[in-house]
Amino acid sequence: MACAEFSFHVPSLEELAGVLQKGLRGNFAEAQVSVVECPDLTQAPFTFPAKGICGKTRIAEVGGVPYLMPLVNLKKVYDLNKIAKEIKLPGAFILGAGAGPFQTLGFNSEFMPVIQTESEHRAPVNGSYFARVSPADGGCVLQKYSEKYHDFGCALLANLFASEGQPGKVIEVKAKRRTGKLNFVTCMRQTLENHYGEKPVGMGGAFLVEKGQVKAHIMPAEFSPCPLTSDEEVAEWLRFYEMKAPLVCLPVFVSKDPGLDLRLEHTHFFSHHGEGGHYHCDTTPDTVEYLGYFSPAEFLFRIDQPMESHSFGRD
Ligand SMILES: [Zn+2]
Repeated sequence: MACAEFSFHVPSLEELAGVLQKGLRGNFAEAQVSVVECPDLTQAPFTFPAKGICGKTRIAEVGGVPYLMPLVNLKKVYDLNKIAKEIKLPGAFILGAGAGPFQTLGFNSEFMPVIQTESEHRAPVNGSYFARVSPADGGCVLQKYSEKYHDFGCALLANLFASEGQPGKVIEVKAKRRTGKLNFVTCMRQTLENHYGEKPVGMGGAFLVEKGQVKAHIMPAEFSPCPLTSDEEVAEWLRFYEMKAPLVCLPVFVSKDPGLDLRLEHTHFFSHHGEGGHYHCDTTPDTVEYLGYFSPAEFLFRIDQPMESHSFGRD
């Protein structure tokens, strides 16, 4: 499979903390960014199969929106154990946002990959979730993937943050009460773009929406039978929801596209109360509270980049 590799600009954690805090204070009433020891992410509410997000950090973008629309390309299926090898990190701990493995599930869904991939020394662990539109009432159905399925598939498109899953120093971000128009991730991404300009910086990790509600979407279980050719048509096809804290979010973002047709930010989330999906923005600016842990990525891998692209369906 075609794979391009790029080296990110990697500022020190202290420098990033300073830059991000300044940017977040323009969009939130309170923002505190510091360098801390990563909390044990195997503990609630994260419940990940790895303790941290440190060591040989990478971002991988696999496939892309052009494989989903105008019409779906059902050949575009992937295996995250193989992707870990393509990004030269077998055994990688992978977090992110993508499309659910329809090849196994038999329907389309939002996917929240949380995977300790296979290595010579360790069997893989799939802690992923998927969210689908309920065929009964159109509501959200969130399920832990491993409850019924035993593969490591995903499909069509995925934005992934990979690391050795080690403990270590990370950037802790606390932000409360949104005063600006930007969502939490866009604010951080644009702050990095404004500061680092043409030098792309990539980050990933996990954050909690601790208080408030968010606007989310879930793709319908059936791929669109008619071509989707604009943001308006995509918005009519998607199902939108308001979902409530506490939510565990899996962000991947890149400050600037180095010319690889990237989706610059993508965040999916799960919860322990049955809600999950694709994060758009909080809908409760006066009460929202975010707490996140982030690492900068050293490398970017662009896997199976679509030959023909377009710009809709990226929100
Ligand atoms: Zn998404």
